[in-house]
Amino acid sequence: MLTFFKKILFRQKIAAQSICCICNKQFSDSEMVTIDTLALCPPDSNLYKNSNWELTKELRSDPTDPDNALHIQELKDQLASEGKPSYIKSDYSQDSEGHIITTFQLFSLSE
Ligand SMILES: [Zn+2]
Repeated sequence: MLTFFKKILFRQKIAAQSICCICNKQFSDSEMVTIDTLALCPPDSNLYKNSNWELTKELRSDPTDPDNALHIQELKDQLASEGKPSYIKSDYSQDSEGHIITTFQLFSLSE
């Protein structure tokens, strides 16, 4: 029984952490700010609000082409390694045959 409670506590501890959409670092939920469905850490929420963002890349992922999600994450990692902040927005829609299509949009700081 004790193990059971420990497991629940452990899970809650994990759940109380969120990853910032821009810097990919972990913060506790109480610190996070949610804007336009994006979870952001305090410094990046200010960056988000006070900056212009441009659509850098848009990719669609469907069941026949699931790798696109990886490509867009690689692009984000590449921008991060160059010191350029960016974030990914995802949207879900259905095509005429009922397949779920995910659209990933990578936004980066416009200069
Ligand atoms: Zn951040």
